[in-house]
Amino acid sequence: MASISQELTAPNGRKITLQTGLFMSNEWVCAAEGGLIESINPADERVIASVQAATKVDVDVAVRTAQAALKHPSWADLHPSKRGYLLRRLSDLVEEHSVDLATLEAWDSGKPYSVALNEDVAEVINCLRYFAGFADKAHGQIIDGGASKFAYTIREPFGVCGQIIPWNYPLMMAAWKLGPALACGNTVILKPSELTPLAILYLAELIKAAGFPPGVVNILNGHGREAGAAIANHPGIRKIAFTGSTATGREIMKMAASNLKAITLETGGKSPLLVFKDADMEQAVKWAQTGIMSNQGQICSGTSRILVEKAVYEQFIDAFKTFTIETSKVGDTFSETTSQGPQISKSQYERILGYIDSGVKQGARLVLGGSSARGHSGKGFFIQPTIFCDVTRDMEIYREEIFGPVVVILPFDTENDAVEKANDSPYGLASSVFSQDITRCHRLAKQIDSGTVWINSSNDSDSLTPFGGMKQSGIGRELGQAGMEAYSVIKAVHVSLGAKL
Ligand code: NAD
Repeated sequence: MASISQELTAPNGRKITLQTGLFMSNEWVCAAEGGLIESINPADERVIASVQAATKVDVDVAVRTAQAALKHPSWADLHPSKRGYLLRRLSDLVEEHSVDLATLEAWDSGKPYSVALNEDVAEVINCLRYFAGFADKAHGQIIDGGASKFAYTIREPFGVCGQIIPWNYPLMMAAWKLGPALACGNTVILKPSELTPLAILYLAELIKAAGFPPGVVNILNGHGREAGAAIANHPGIRKIAFTGSTATGREIMKMAASNLKAITLETGGKSPLLVFKDADMEQAVKWAQTGIMSNQGQICSGTSRILVEKAVYEQFIDAFKTFTIETSKVGDTFSETTSQGPQISKSQYERILGYIDSGVKQGARLVLGGSSARGHSGKGFFIQPTIFCDVTRDMEIYREEIFGPVVVILPFDTENDAVEKANDSPYGLASSVFSQDITRCHRLAKQIDSGTVWINSSNDSDSLTPFGGMKQSGIGRELGQAGMEAYSVIKAVHVSLGAKL
């Protein structure tokens, strides 16, 4: 057993002691094969810390640990209310330690510190509390079978669940997955993205402090193709939950097929936002800007295709551009005035600039931005908020998920034209409709192929409401009651009341 602890001083002066090993059985251990992951600050490209990187050998140990914890009386026989209590206790600890958590999250991912604190960590607290309240309310049913029998159902945990999370909302994605899994009585092996390994390690210490029994939560940093694949393939894991790219989701699905794991996938998107001429234009502009430019545009449900009715097309573009210029401040992660930090990594930065280049070459009209926005040091993966209009449907920037602060704007003629364009995508994660005609809004909510439809808003999801995709944006739902149900399996018990053969 090793104590792998590092003393870190964040750019905001905060001193944080961080355990950087693999978290198994409530202990910190070194990776069996000695691998390390370097976490890079995307704002200055300097190494923040090195953490242990798991391989298949470590995943095997973690699965055995999580299987043993399932049978351990202190977890298996726990009253559901006690599981709720532990989640509640964890949420309280997250609240108590929110400054350290937000510091690590901002430093590691590049999101503005104020956003990490007031949005991400706040959402983690809400989400854990929501599922804490659900822990003792996941009842089965009684089914009347006439005079001679009845049946009842029990919701049982799957057992060991594998959870693979991305880098855009590391703590939040962990909460979305840990909350329902633990509320239902599963044990978990969670793998963060290799790009954002830090804040989750701090969370692991809070999980232990909250009183979760050893082995219930195991957190293994590691590379996707190594540790992630070992989790997705492992025969001892019964359910896998993944958030990330559609390409990786497809690979995980194949691996999970080896033992027919239950699966939830939350993958990519190219979500449309429709603005009709009768919309409250000021509101449409504000929500549209938040819907694509927040989190540096790294939002799976970001409304990255804006479709505007022809009569107000130029008016919308002007207002959207002006509002973006007025409200966007690209810069230092820890500055209070920053609204947009750096992209997560060099490869994402280059990928986004590549898309911008392709938009220009393919003839789209560049309204704003369109280039890097490096700081004084010449370092950091900063990109200007970028707006393209007069985009056509054959352009790459219209069809592909860019995952950066880049939006495309197109005109539409009629309501039917708007729906046809909105649905013209392999993705179906989310959509927004702006109109003051309430009948039209509900009609379109039924016609658009997406797991979420926002009427007169964008990306204001919450823990209470199910979230997930249609088409190639995913399978299954997280959050809400559906998110809870996704972490249990129904057993049916038939009871004879004297039926004779
Ligand atoms: P990714 O899908 O490769 O990574 C997400 C997670 O999956 C990480 O934890 C990673 O380690 C793991 N992973 C990668 N390959 C794996 C494999 N073969 N087996 C098991 N696990 C594996 O995403 P990325 O490369 O970090 O980003 C690429 C693109 O994905 C982005 O440009 C964006 O379009 C999309 N993305 C979407 C979301 C989302 O929320 N929907 C989040 C992040 C990235």
